[in-house]
Amino acid sequence: MDLIEFDRTHIWHPYTSMKNPLPAYEVAFADGVRLTLEDGRVLIDGMSSWWAVIHGYNHPILNAVLTAQSQKMAHVMFGGITHKPAVELARLLLSITPDPLERIFFSDSGSVSVEVALKMAFQYWMARGKRGKDRILSFKNGYHGDTFGAMSVCDPVNGMHEIFSGVLPTHIFAEAPKAPFDGEPSAEEMNALEALMERHKEEIAAVIIEPVVQGAGGMRIYSPIFLKKLRALCDRYGFLLIFDEIATNFGRTGKLFALEHPEVTPDILCLGKSLTGGYMTLAATLTTDTVAATISSGTPSSFMHGPTFMGNPLACAVALASTRMLLDSPWKARVDRIEKGLKQGLEPLTALPQVADVRVLGAIGVVELTRPVDMATIQSRFVERGVWVRPFGKLVYVMPPFVMEPEDLNTVTDVMREVVGMETP
Ligand SMILES: *Cc1c(COP(=O)(O)O)cnc(C)c1O
Repeated sequence: MDLIEFDRTHIWHPYTSMKNPLPAYEVAFADGVRLTLEDGRVLIDGMSSWWAVIHGYNHPILNAVLTAQSQKMAHVMFGGITHKPAVELARLLLSITPDPLERIFFSDSGSVSVEVALKMAFQYWMARGKRGKDRILSFKNGYHGDTFGAMSVCDPVNGMHEIFSGVLPTHIFAEAPKAPFDGEPSAEEMNALEALMERHKEEIAAVIIEPVVQGAGGMRIYSPIFLKKLRALCDRYGFLLIFDEIATNFGRTGKLFALEHPEVTPDILCLGKSLTGGYMTLAATLTTDTVAATISSGTPSSFMHGPTFMGNPLACAVALASTRMLLDSPWKARVDRIEKGLKQGLEPLTALPQVADVRVLGAIGVVELTRPVDMATIQSRFVERGVWVRPFGKLVYVMPPFVMEPEDLNTVTDVMREVVGMETP
């Protein structure tokens, strides 16, 4: 059995059937913004491997840090032990996020960091002796991960987890923020949200939202002012506010963190995806001293979570190097340049009848079609033209590595225009 056939027969890929899987392309190596397939074809990567690879693949500095750390210790348990990579990374992350966020919990993946955030919120209310605070207010079109707690706060219909509704806790869902990035939410919209909060004020422990950009639940970009108003409502009702920045963190939206658009500080913040520059899986949940101190004054006084690979030294060392490298780079100018290129390259598509909307923010470019694409067909059209883009549903979108040169970005948007043009209206 050759490699592709073995893969098709035995290995599950994300959200695919084992009986009739979509084709998978074998990548032999990756360098900079290019993926090289086993058959020699070279693809310009428009996906940053799902928001993660901001500096490009096979980066000499990250490679060197990874090698050096592996020669000291690849891993050591975090129970009763600490180490420089974790401490220095914590110091750096706490220094570049808003001041009230002073406590940090490292975990293995974005979904787990969301589980940790939810647990923090519930433990906070338990410690305060407040009973019945057992629900989360989330938003339609939200996406927060694939584990059970995270699934339960994803859009209950669009969130890819509808079939599990019977086994998930039922949370409360507000309408997705409506006003566009440069718009302002209507009084009606905010009143409806407030009414929902009022109705459930005794049960709601926390509100969770992806700031400014809703990712996998629809690639929607919305008004930062909404978040200011949301913060005010949470303060009024005493709900904790959780920002899930896993997709937007480290410059993707044109600010280092999306929360800087509205200048709003959450009580709990989830980081992930590009945290290690796409080298390995690592996530973090940050919170305030108030939340941490409250949890720690409860019974039990410990925060009840502790994954095996918590604070993995390899991952922390690479995350530290990646974040330092980002901060030392002209990342803002690069992201702005990509934003301009995406606007120029994609906005002409609004004229096509098969295109419902084009939206761009920072290094995120989204083309929403009027109907879902056929994945296998559209994927092979992109690959034939030397570009790696992986659409889903009605969405053909890109979030290139920040280091992508204008010429490569032009190729990506040219190919997107060509391939979207081939879709039936
Ligand atoms: C990807 C993502 C997650 C889940 O992260 P994993 O590392 O895939 O578990 C959670 N929230 C948001 C906003 C994401 O984009």
